[in-house]
Amino acid sequence: MEAVNDLQYKDVPEPKCPEGWAIVQVKATGICSSDIPRIFTKGTYHFPTIPGHEFSGVVTQVGQSSDEEWVGKRVGVFPLIPCKRCPQCEQKKYELCENYDYTGSRRDGAFAEYVAVPVWNLIEIPENVSFHSAAMFEPLAVALHAVKRAGVQAGKSVAVIGTGMIGIAVAQWARSLGADPVYVIGRNEVKRKLIDPLPGISYASDLTELQAFDTVIEAVGTPEAIAESIEIAMPEGHVLFMGNPSGDILLEQAVYWKILRKQLHVAGTWNSSYDGRNASDWTEVIEALSKGKINAEELISHRFPKEQLFAGLELMRAHKEPYCKVMIDWEEA
Ligand SMILES: [Zn+2]
Ligand SMILES: [Zn+2]
Repeated sequence: MEAVNDLQYKDVPEPKCPEGWAIVQVKATGICSSDIPRIFTKGTYHFPTIPGHEFSGVVTQVGQSSDEEWVGKRVGVFPLIPCKRCPQCEQKKYELCENYDYTGSRRDGAFAEYVAVPVWNLIEIPENVSFHSAAMFEPLAVALHAVKRAGVQAGKSVAVIGTGMIGIAVAQWARSLGADPVYVIGRNEVKRKLIDPLPGISYASDLTELQAFDTVIEAVGTPEAIAESIEIAMPEGHVLFMGNPSGDILLEQAVYWKILRKQLHVAGTWNSSYDGRNASDWTEVIEALSKGKINAEELISHRFPKEQLFAGLELMRAHKEPYCKVMIDWEEA
């Protein structure tokens, strides 16, 4: 990425592998919806940068004094590189780090054949989990983190506003925890065909048909969707804000009143928890995938070989057709 809206295919030198780092040969990279503004409109921290933060691959090299056992292993990668010094890092709440680096936005990422990452950020993929699923560890962990923060419980109703991949994954997690009913709410009827086949999850576009919900997770980031999430929460319900804000968020007074009068529990969520091999959102995601409790592959709507990365980006940018996860394969066809 040479500048905003200037993405080029180039041969670049292979990344260096300092002490404590590893080189991963990338096998699959998902396109995140955050990549679209990053690449086409908003840009990133410096140029040139290689985007791509949802990926999996095989370790080809580790830096000095790291465990050589990693070489040849299939891995997923936690893209956030924490400072490990700030108060939040000291409590192992790395997702709240004040001074983090990030693979694929602040530093070079995985729209490339090779990427350098710290060994600490590597997590091994179980044999029965595919590279495609492993490239979705990150968004699945973000979705799980949200579900936990929203107080989702078995037998309680959940609505997700927004039909992006993470929103749909939130619905899958809520379902796997026993929430019932689970709705994904969108405006676009064509999304129905992506969501209807998912077991236990219903699609709705007309809010007037619905009862109020125990938990509402907002996964759009617009003032309209945020107002809607407050409207459809039941008294003493939970509303969780997850969608990245599209701009300033202004609420009508009548909507704001409802937060007070319904005594809503309103919270935010950010990123996911990760602590190497220790228990975290990431280890839970991997276990759930390995045991077949959730199915990541059914969230992949499109696959492109690496030569067609631009076609995948353009499909999402222009909303050419309904999509969920757009996945790029780095293997030779
Ligand atoms: Zn992402
Ligand atoms: Zn930190």
